[in-house]
This record gives sequence, structure tokens and C-alpha cells, in this order.
Amino acid sequence: MTISVKVEEAGFRPAMRIASVGVSKILQIGARAAAMKREGRPVIILGAGEPDFDTPDHIKQAAKAAIDAGDTKYTALDGSPALKQAVAAKFKRENGIDYAMDEVTVGTGAKQILFNAFMATIDAGDEVIIPTPYWTSYSDIVEVCGGTAVLVPCDADAGFRLQAEQLERAITPKTRWVLLNSPSNPSGAAYSAADYRPLIEVLVRHPHVWLMVDDMYEHIIYDGFEFVTPVALEPRLKERALTINGVSKAYAMTGWRIGYAGGPKALIKAMAVVQSQATSCPCSVSQAAAIAALNGPQDVLKERQESFRRRRDLVVSRLNAIPGLECRIPEGAFYTFSGCAGVLNKITPKGRTLLTDTDFTDYLLEEAHVAVVPGSAFGISPFFRISYATSQAELVEAMDRIERACAALKG
Ligand code: PLP
Repeated sequence: MTISVKVEEAGFRPAMRIASVGVSKILQIGARAAAMKREGRPVIILGAGEPDFDTPDHIKQAAKAAIDAGDTKYTALDGSPALKQAVAAKFKRENGIDYAMDEVTVGTGAKQILFNAFMATIDAGDEVIIPTPYWTSYSDIVEVCGGTAVLVPCDADAGFRLQAEQLERAITPKTRWVLLNSPSNPSGAAYSAADYRPLIEVLVRHPHVWLMVDDMYEHIIYDGFEFVTPVALEPRLKERALTINGVSKAYAMTGWRIGYAGGPKALIKAMAVVQSQATSCPCSVSQAAAIAALNGPQDVLKERQESFRRRRDLVVSRLNAIPGLECRIPEGAFYTFSGCAGVLNKITPKGRTLLTDTDFTDYLLEEAHVAVVPGSAFGISPFFRISYATSQAELVEAMDRIERACAALKG
């Protein structure tokens, strides 16, 4: 899916670096569903990657206080000292990692952190190992930066987790990074300490490979799962690992755009160079809000986690009761990632044969008015992702519709 055709038709020539980068399928589906809603069709959107909660009050108050105090100017390049301190304290308190102030960076969302890191380290031909299913921005950002995304498919049977032998096989002299995401968007799968250890052993044997971990969903975990991040397990990795996190998902702050990371000083400095030429600094008011989020009361995290767990259980049990669908129980995040092999090659009431997971999700959107994202958007088929960060009532209605749509298939 390239955007080059359309822009060339309009007499515009895009730079080579973006010519092969696709427009996010998730955004496309969201836009289509929103358009259908505007036409009056009762679409339920289960595609969005953001919590449906509001940002907690004490965080909003901190932002208002910052505005009133005139905290509305440029800040230090990659985060105010107060926010960097709050980030360092978070890494120490929750992850047991000591990052000094010059080993911490703050950007406009974790997405900018990823962008800064790849932009600062990747030359043409450098490889980044990305286990699939994966958040598609990873490979797109790698490609924009001139690198090569090396996608390694992970089996549902292995819990969608990268295995040590797969990592060993994927590493070449050109490998710059391996990127791990736990809990994962889209699979919800998370790595325990026991899952990480064999991977860490491989990395210790390959000192030229750096590790990027995206811990964005750290605080959305279930059933007593013990979250851990690799640098806490193997301190020798600290000198070549970037531990990424942010406030977007944990504190329902997607619109505030604050992400952060801890890593070796030289890398953090190089990332700041990139940021200095892109955004100068993250928004000052959002930084004040993020300080309140990280330093303030944390009980809201547990309450919200419990609410997400109830919705996960509802969606997983309903999906597994539908013939043709199969869903493993995710350890975290707010997504289910279900196999839909059992509905392929079946015929819809309008006579269309479902050949791919995209055919299936198109059918759900057009006929059942439920917007979900096909596995192909995350590099693996046939699957589909549901974001259950929406009300229980909407979820029940959406699951009823999916059940009826599947029951109406013939063949
Ligand atoms: N990492 C993962 C796995 C995500 O799913 C997302 C957002 O969907 C991000 C990072 C980006 O988060 P932010 O809002 O901080 O840019």
C-alpha cells in the first residue's frame, strides 16, 4: 500500500524516504468507520488504540496551574529537569533501574522517542529485528529512517512471543536493533522474566545488537502477571538498551503527547540532536501534567486495570464461543488478537467469499457495523484485533453483532 500513486497524480513528487511508507490501515479503517457514522449508520468502533477514560483530575489541575503560573515557554530541549527527575524516579521505583538525568529523554509521545532513536542511529542498510504481530509504526519509522525492518513472525502457539532461536537466526552483522514490545499492541501478549531470559542470553552473545523495549502498556496487565523490563533483569544490557515508556495509555493522556525513555548517555544526546531540529521541546503544559501523573497518586492505575480486565474477559469469552474464531487470553494491554481461519472461504449473505482477514473485517464493518482491524495491518494473517477500551454496553452489542454476522456465513 503506497501513497505514491495518488500524490503523483496530483503533480506532486514525494521524497523517496516516504514513497514506500503506507498510510496506517488503522487510521484508514477509523476514517471509514467515522464517515459511515456521519452518514447515520450505527457503527461501533473497536479500532482505537486509546483508553476511553478521562485524564485524572489532579493531572488536569496541574496543567491548569502551569498555565496560570506562566509555564508556557520553551523548556529544556528533551524535557524539563523536574520531569526528567520524575521519570528517573519512576524507573527506580517501578522498574528498579537507576538512570541519571543525562540518561533520560522526554519527547512528544513515545512515537517521537522511537523516531528520534532510529533517526539518530540508523544508516542505509542497517537492520532492525521486529517480531510480528507488531505495531506498524515500528517498521514504517525504520523505513523512513532508511533502515530495513526484519520481520520475524511469532506463532500464536508460542503466545506471539519471539523465541531465542528465532532471534539468533535473525541476527546478521547489519543488525542494529531488536525491538520488543510487552505487553504488545496488537496481541496483548507479555514477556515474563522467564520469557525474556533466553532472549537476553542471545543478546549478551551479540554485543553489536542494541535492544529497544517499548513498555507503553506496563500498567495494563492482568491475573497477577508480573511486569518486568529487560534492563532490570540484565544490567549488562543497560549500556546498549533504550527503555521506552509514556503516559498516554497508563494515565489516559494520549492527547497530551508525552513519552520518555532511559538509555545510555551518548544515545540520549544523539536523540536530543534530532529532537532539537524537529520540535525543540515537548509542550511545557503537558510536561507539567506528566510530572503530576508520575509523582502523584497511582491508585487510579489499579482501578482502571480492573475495569479493563472485566472487559477483556467478556470479549475473550464471547469470541471463543463463536465457531470459526479463536482467541488466546492476553496478559495485558486492551486488545484481543483472534484467529479467524475458521471463517475464511465462507460465503456472506450477499454472496461474497471471505478469502482474507481483510475480507472478514470489511464484512464486519459493512454488514455488522463493527470496526475492527485485520491482522494483515500488523504483519500476520488471518487474525483481527479488537480494542476493548470502550463501554461494557457497546462491547456486548458489538459481540452480539459479530456473533450474528458469523452465524450468517454459509459454506
Ligand atoms: N507504543 C505502542 C506499542 C503503542 O501502541 C503506541 C500507541 O498506540 C505508542 C507506542 C505511542 O504512544 P504515544 O501516544 O506516547 O506516542
